[in-house]
Amino acid sequence: MPHDVKTTCPYCGVGCGVIARVEDDGQVSIKGDPEHPANFGRLCSKGSALAETLDLEGRVLYPQIDGTRSDWDTALDRVASRFRQTIAEHGPDAVAFYVSGQLLTEDYYVANKLMKGFIGSANIDTNSRLCMASSVAGHRRAFGSDTVPGCYEDLECADLVVLVGSNMAWCHPVLYQRLAAAKASRPDMKVVVIDPRRTATSDIADLHLQLHPDGDVALFGGLLHHLHQTGVVDHAFVRDHTVGLEVLLAEEPGSSLAATSNATGLSVEELLRFYALFAVTEKVVTCYSQGVNQSTSGTDKVNAIINCHLLTGRIGRPGMGPLSLTGQPNAMGGREVGGLANMLAAHMAIENPVHRERVQRFWNAPRIAEKPGLKAVDMFEAVADGRIKALWIMATNPVVSMPDADRVRVAIAACPFVVVSDIQSDTDTARLAHVLLPSTGWGEKDGTVTNSERRISRQRGFLPPPSEARPDWWQLTEIGRRLGHEAAFDYDGPAKIFAEHALLSGFENDGERDFDIAAFSDIDRKGFDALAPFQWPCPARTEPRESRFFAAGGFYHPDRKARFVVSRQGGAARRSTDFPFTLNTGRIRDQWHTMTRTGKSARLSAHLAEPFAEIHPRDALDYDIRDADLVDLVSETGAHVIVRALLTDRQARGSIFVPMHWTGETAALGRIDALVPSRTDPVSGQPASKNVAIAARPY
Ligand code: SF4
Repeated sequence: MPHDVKTTCPYCGVGCGVIARVEDDGQVSIKGDPEHPANFGRLCSKGSALAETLDLEGRVLYPQIDGTRSDWDTALDRVASRFRQTIAEHGPDAVAFYVSGQLLTEDYYVANKLMKGFIGSANIDTNSRLCMASSVAGHRRAFGSDTVPGCYEDLECADLVVLVGSNMAWCHPVLYQRLAAAKASRPDMKVVVIDPRRTATSDIADLHLQLHPDGDVALFGGLLHHLHQTGVVDHAFVRDHTVGLEVLLAEEPGSSLAATSNATGLSVEELLRFYALFAVTEKVVTCYSQGVNQSTSGTDKVNAIINCHLLTGRIGRPGMGPLSLTGQPNAMGGREVGGLANMLAAHMAIENPVHRERVQRFWNAPRIAEKPGLKAVDMFEAVADGRIKALWIMATNPVVSMPDADRVRVAIAACPFVVVSDIQSDTDTARLAHVLLPSTGWGEKDGTVTNSERRISRQRGFLPPPSEARPDWWQLTEIGRRLGHEAAFDYDGPAKIFAEHALLSGFENDGERDFDIAAFSDIDRKGFDALAPFQWPCPARTEPRESRFFAAGGFYHPDRKARFVVSRQGGAARRSTDFPFTLNTGRIRDQWHTMTRTGKSARLSAHLAEPFAEIHPRDALDYDIRDADLVDLVSETGAHVIVRALLTDRQARGSIFVPMHWTGETAALGRIDALVPSRTDPVSGQPASKNVAIAARPY
C-alpha cells in the first residue's frame, strides 16, 4: 500500500515540513506538509525536487580503507585504534572532529559527548561556524544565552520588516513567501532591504539600501543615536531590563549624518528615510543572515542591531524583535547540544566550571574538556601545522567550503589520519580520506532538527539504508564503545539519545538556562516516532508554551538584564589599484552547498547551469570584459577562479558576486572559496566570506 511519511526538508534553516509518499514500487513523491507550522504546505524549488535526488549514483555503499573496500568491524577498529594511539602519544588535543549543520541533533549530541566528555578535548567544530557563529556570539553577549527571541509569525504581524544581509527570496524561500503574502494582504506593511546587491528579495522592498560591504555597524550605530536623540526610547524597559546604555553612548558618541553617509555609502536622504521609518513604527522585526554574520565584524553587527531593539523595548512581543536566520537545516540543533568548540551541551558554557562539573556528572564521564577547542579556521591551521594528527569529518566538504580552500586541501591531504563519513564518495574531501564511512542520507535516517525559530521537528526515514550505510550516531557510538565506554554509548536508536539530551536540558536547571525540553526526557521509541513539531523551551508538557522570549526581560546574564554592547566598524577589504574589486559570495536559488544532492536534479541545475561573476556593466567596460566572457578572478594570495561574466546593474560598482556552490580539483573550475582568505571575526571566529579584495580580467 502506498504510505505517507512526515519528515523535514534537509536544506535551509526554514525547516519546512514535507510529506513523502512511498508507492508500492518504491517510487517517492514529495509535497509540503500543510500542518507543519513553518511552511503550512509550501515548498520552494529545492524542497519540491527532493524526490529527484534520491538515487544511489555516487553513494558510498560500504566502508573503505585507503580506497579499498572493507567492512564495518575492520574500519571501526582502525578508526578507534588510530584515535586511541594518537591520544596516548600526543594528548586529546591532537585529535579533532569537524561536523556539520546537516547532521541531526542526535548525531551532534553523541559526537559532542564523545569528544568533550570521553576524549577530553573540545576540538569539535562545525561548518555552522561559517554560517551563524556571529549570531551565537552576539546573542550570548547581549542576552547571556544563545536565544532567538522571536518566531516566524512575527514577520507576518510586523508593520516594518528590515532584512539585513539576507537574500531571503533565494536563501529562505518559504519564509520569503510568507512575508510576501503578508505584505500583499497588508499593503501598509513596509519592507526595507539592506544589501550591497539588488536581489530577488529587493523586489518587494519599499526601500533598498545598497550600502557598502560591512557598512552595517555604522548604519545601526547611527540608527541608535537617531532613536536616542529623537526620544524613541522605552525608558522603563531600558531601566528595568538592560545594562550599559550610558557606556555605549559615551564610547560610541555618534557620527554626523555626513560621516555615516560616508561610512555606509548611503545618501543622507536614504539614511533619514530609514531612520524615520524605524522610529515611527512600533512593530519592527529585523532579520539578518550571512551578510551580517560572515564578516570580521559580524558579532558587532549583530549587537548593533540588537542594541536598537533593546533601546526601544521592541523585543519578544508579536511583530517585534531581532531574528537571526540560520543557513542550514540543523545549525540550531547543533547549538543546542554544544556542537561548537566553545560551547557545552544544553546551552551551557565551557568556560563555566559549574557547568563543566554538571555535564561531567550527568554523563558520568571520566573527564571533561576544560577549555574551548579550536574553531574551524584555527582547526584547519592546526591540521596544517601538524598539531592535529587525527581528524574525523562528518557530512561536510571543507575542501570546498572553507576559506583559503586550497590550503585546507593541502592540510587535510598531509594529515596522518583522516576519517570521512559521508553519503557521496566523490566529494573533494572524501577523496582525501584514509577511512571512508558510508552514512545514511535524507530519507533514510531518523532524528530531529531545529529551525531558525527554535522549532524542533522530526526527520523520518522512509527508505531502507542502501547497502552498508549506517547513521552517523551509530558510527560515533561504535567508536565510543571501542574506546572503552560501553555504558555511556549504549544507544539503540535516536529516541534514546533524544531522551538523554532532553533530560540534560532540564538537569539542575532552575530557569538559569533558556534551553529546556525536559518534557520529553521520558520519551520512548513510539513517542519519538509520533513527535509533532514544537518550539523550545518546553520544560513540562502541562505548561502553556511561550513562543517568544524577553518581552518582560528575564535575560540570562546573572542579573537577568540584557547588555548594550559597544560595536566597532567592520574591517573593509583592502581594495587597491591591483585588487580593485570587492568579492561577495553567496547562494543561488536552486542549489544547496556543494551540490552533492541538488546537483542530481536536472530541473534544479537548469536554473543556473554554471558559476558566474556578476559585474556592473561600467566596471566591465573599464576592464574590457564583455557579457558571457570568461573572466579570471585573482586573490591577493595569487589564487585564481575562472567563471563567466554576467553583466548586471544589480551589482554595485566595485563589487563582484560569485556563487559558492561549484567544486573541482582546481579553483579554476569555480571553487570560489579558494579566493577567500582566512580572516575571521575576533569574537565568533566566523570567516569573512563577503568582503574580499580581488582583481578581475578577461581570461
Ligand atoms: Fe527546504 Fe528551505 Fe525550501 Fe523550505 S524553504 S523547502 S526548508 S529549502
